[in-house]
Amino acid sequence: MSAVYIIGAGISGLAAAKRLSEQGEKVIVFESTDHPGGRCRTFFDENLGLEIDNGNHLILSSNKSILEMADASQLYITKNAAFDFIDLKNNSTWTVDGGRGKIPWLHKKPPGANTWNLLNDYRKLNRNIPIADALDTSSARWDSFWLPLVLAVMNTPPNEASAKLVRNVLSETLLRGGHYSRPVFALNGLSKAFVEPVAGRLDIRYGATLKRVEASNNKASKLIFRDQEIDLKTDDALIVALPWAQAHNILPSLPKPPEFNPIINVHFKTNSSVQTPQMTGLIGSHAHWLFRRKNVASVTISAANQLAQNDSDTIARLVWSEVGNLLGGGNMPEYRVIKEKSATFSASPKIDATRPSSASKLENLFIAGDWIATGLPATLEGAARSGFLAADVLRVCLRR
Ligand SMILES: Cc1cc2nc3c(=O)[nH]c(=O)nc-3n(C[C@H](O)[C@H](O)[C@H](O)COP(=O)(O)OP(=O)(O)OC[C@H]3O[C@@H](n4cnc5c(N)ncnc54)[C@H](O)[C@@H]3O)c2cc1C
Repeated sequence: MSAVYIIGAGISGLAAAKRLSEQGEKVIVFESTDHPGGRCRTFFDENLGLEIDNGNHLILSSNKSILEMADASQLYITKNAAFDFIDLKNNSTWTVDGGRGKIPWLHKKPPGANTWNLLNDYRKLNRNIPIADALDTSSARWDSFWLPLVLAVMNTPPNEASAKLVRNVLSETLLRGGHYSRPVFALNGLSKAFVEPVAGRLDIRYGATLKRVEASNNKASKLIFRDQEIDLKTDDALIVALPWAQAHNILPSLPKPPEFNPIINVHFKTNSSVQTPQMTGLIGSHAHWLFRRKNVASVTISAANQLAQNDSDTIARLVWSEVGNLLGGGNMPEYRVIKEKSATFSASPKIDATRPSSASKLENLFIAGDWIATGLPATLEGAARSGFLAADVLRVCLRR
């Protein structure tokens, strides 16, 4: 029986493998590390004595590709599309609440914003320019609504972030109403919710780092790993589901990888535990979001290019000085700082235009990853969608 080899057990590779194995294909996944999940994973931190995620991941109730991979019993979905904010400069608070209906309507509004001026802003996002050039960045609603949204969704500074990609995200979420924009939390960590339900059913070979792909007759014909080689049969196929830079190293005809932006997460072990996961947007601080789950309080800082230059202790102290009071004050508790230096590619209009499609120059080789041209920024939804897309394109192109 012919096989489909998938390289990379991140969300995109797992999505491709799920789709194809459900369609009866023989699928084997190769992953260089000893665990699945890639940039979306949970691990046991020896110092904290706790399981933590590599970074907080926000997904919304309309993200149907990533939700297709999830174990629903591991998720907590809020009733309303409600997002609490606090401005740490003056302690003012507000909630952005899109309700739970199927029309875009704000029941609770951020300062300076209402349904009409936000809809009017949305209309201006149809040009392929940075969002800071499309909207009025001196308005109150820029600070209270657009800036936190852009950083969270794009992990790219607003003077670079593509307005069109933000528009695409809004068209699938807030523009469809609160029902489709409710935050989804992983109750017991990312791996249990999104990775293990799929990875547990697959044949995954760990510790297998792909180095090169050889081709003949316009087809991938040999996989060269660090310590093994596999000859592909005529009917075999390959999906490369690697981050942009690693994919380009192996397949130099792919577009060159652009700059990547870091995301920092600081996890504090707290004395008190929360029953249901919580999330608060932070304004006027280095810290952007505070997530609480059980006895872990985690702070996310997106597009953290400057801050990532500092050592972990400096970062933790700075963040604690900003959020400590929200967590009961006192001395800084035990912490773990995770700097994901290459978290996501810088999603500018220019870079977005270079993203390739799932098909490659070789007949039996297909590409997946959050950087493929899905119309979405580098997100879990984009990664899962790219995997499903690669699987579907493979089946159509190879008539299987
Ligand atoms: C800190 C952080 C916070 C984030 N927050 C959010 C968020 O809030 N919401 C959201 O939607 N998204 C978020 N993202 C983005 C999201 O995690 C990614 O878009 C997604 O996980 C990418 O999946 P992928 O399969 O494309 O790539 P990866 O997860 O990078 O998977 C690629 C896999 O390939 C393996 N590999 C690499 N080279 C080789 C090789 N040569 N041979 C074999 N295997 C190899 C890697 O080990 C990895 O397992 C965040 C990312 C980070 C890092």
